[in-house]
Amino acid sequence: MTDRNLLMIPGPIEFEPEVLRAMSIKTASHVAPNFIETFGNCLDMIQKIWQAPTGQAFIVAGSGTLAMDMAAANITEQGDKVLVLSTGYFGKRYKDIFDRYGAKTTIIETPIGETIDLNTIENELKKGIYKIISITHVDTSTGVLTDAKNIAAIANKYNVLSVLDGVCSVAAEEIAQEEWGIDVVLTASQKAIGVPPGLALLVASEKAINVWKNRTTPVQNYYADFANWLPIMKAYQERRPSYFGTPAVNLINALEVSLKQILAEGLQNRFARHKNLATLFRTELKKLGFKYVPTKDKHTANTLSAVYYPTHVNGNDFRKKLAKNNIIVAGGLLPEIKEQYFRVGHMGAVTENDIVAVINAIKKSI
Ligand code: PMP
Repeated sequence: MTDRNLLMIPGPIEFEPEVLRAMSIKTASHVAPNFIETFGNCLDMIQKIWQAPTGQAFIVAGSGTLAMDMAAANITEQGDKVLVLSTGYFGKRYKDIFDRYGAKTTIIETPIGETIDLNTIENELKKGIYKIISITHVDTSTGVLTDAKNIAAIANKYNVLSVLDGVCSVAAEEIAQEEWGIDVVLTASQKAIGVPPGLALLVASEKAINVWKNRTTPVQNYYADFANWLPIMKAYQERRPSYFGTPAVNLINALEVSLKQILAEGLQNRFARHKNLATLFRTELKKLGFKYVPTKDKHTANTLSAVYYPTHVNGNDFRKKLAKNNIIVAGGLLPEIKEQYFRVGHMGAVTENDIVAVINAIKKSI
């Protein structure tokens, strides 16, 4: 029998068959006219999905961490002050990345499951010392959704560059990059973008590109340097051949299919579908007595659920039982509570049937 498992982890997710099929088309030259068209189409569609018509899109082979690295490497110079907002594991990762490029970072952390108070952020930015603020939109370790829109508004008030780690949010949680004034929005292919792992995607505002252009020191990362990639992205968008590093041709074929599907669904419909399915799942789990890691519904992600095991349940046994019922979920990630909770991804191609299947399997496993 074919594999009937449902992969319900927060990335990689279940992919649409049409996307997977696109990966198996014969690999073209990266300068073949058809592939140039595909790459250019992807860049155009990324601008639409990010809602950043004047932003510069980048598609580079690598994972989400490369996208984080690329954003930080290009806009940070030694001694720059960076305010890192952290609601979990990936917020802390961003601090490590900025530290690596010589930034002087300050991290605002929250108690587990809480979100960051806007006044705390404003009081810090008011000091007028920061060049950059980083925000994790959905921290995949806690399932906390951060108020990116209002944080970006505060960042703009104090003229601070904002970087949004949208690895677990882009194309599922609402983001309007240009309207909200976010300078870099980044993600990876394997989550709500709906393409197997291997592509780092980001859009940089004109302001972010200018900050990079006006650097007085070289970018401390050769592969991630905008100087290498910007001419390539411009060429593909103008449908001209170019080369710096070989693009992941087959993944980009798949990306074109998936981005078209996202736009065909419509962004608002897609955001609403994720919200409705997340709410359905949460309502049912709460009826069963489960407690969520995020402390309030209003800052709970729609892309994944981070849920404590009931006290009588052994986590490993529970996940094994779920797997026997064909549902694959993820264990905990945040070291402090790793053994106490599990995570269910519900993004991208997810349907109500999938949610019902997970709920039924959970009922059989507790
Ligand atoms: N940021 C967030 C919010 C993530 O969820 C992840 C991956 N789970 C990453 C960054 C890192 O992405 P990758 O694993 O693709 O390097």
